[in-house]
Amino acid sequence: MATYFILIDGLRPDVVPDNCPNLAALFARGASTLRARSVMPSITLPCHTSIFHSVPPQRHGVTTNTFTPFARPLPGLMDVARAAGKRCGLFYNWEQLRDINKPGSLFRSVFIDNVETMSGDDEMCDVTVPLLLADPLDFCFIYYGTTDTCGHNHGWLSPEYRAQCARVDKLVARIVATLPADGHVLVQADHGGHDRTHGTDQDADMLIPWGLAGPRVKPGYALTEPVSLLDTAPTLAYLLGLTPDPHWEGRVVREAFID
Ligand SMILES: [Zn+2]
Repeated sequence: MATYFILIDGLRPDVVPDNCPNLAALFARGASTLRARSVMPSITLPCHTSIFHSVPPQRHGVTTNTFTPFARPLPGLMDVARAAGKRCGLFYNWEQLRDINKPGSLFRSVFIDNVETMSGDDEMCDVTVPLLLADPLDFCFIYYGTTDTCGHNHGWLSPEYRAQCARVDKLVARIVATLPADGHVLVQADHGGHDRTHGTDQDADMLIPWGLAGPRVKPGYALTEPVSLLDTAPTLAYLLGLTPDPHWEGRVVREAFID
């Protein structure tokens, strides 16, 4: 049963209803919230390290966009999945994300250095879709970063930013169209943004959309319990039939599931 995890960098929840019709439709057929919370500092690499390792930056020690080896190593989601024999893929256009898993955890990794170009995510999608169709994976992480680039260049909630969110929203539909009927997809952001930046603890930076869809997920369900970035790895592990690492601090978002 294939599971996709799509992350849209710097996607604020308040643009989803007006500018992301495909994402809004996906959330409407699954379980979602527009009030999930990021971690501090609300910066891309610390957030991604927390997403995949289910511990806050204070624990993993990655507090900037420069990776530093963990003082006390723990396995991430990809590492746990690989150890259980799952075939994992990583499709991304911001190279710092290469450190979200240990070497040897991936079956397939596709990186293109194009996150500064507004057509970059489209190019990533063009490459990703045929690969997903030709050789399905158990789990894949698909990262789109141009929304964050656009936020820094033009400002969060600017017309340009909203247009870029709408552009990437179309890619969500293209990726989800490749998912088998028994597959699941989680879509979320890592952080929000304000003015031309992010990284603070204000709601504009900390609130993110988070939504899960698939046959095991309650349809049209608005999550009521708090959801954190730390809950992503345990929830995906639950979907994949994996045992969460005992060091992980997040929880399975059980409220989202029928079973
Ligand atoms: Zn950024």
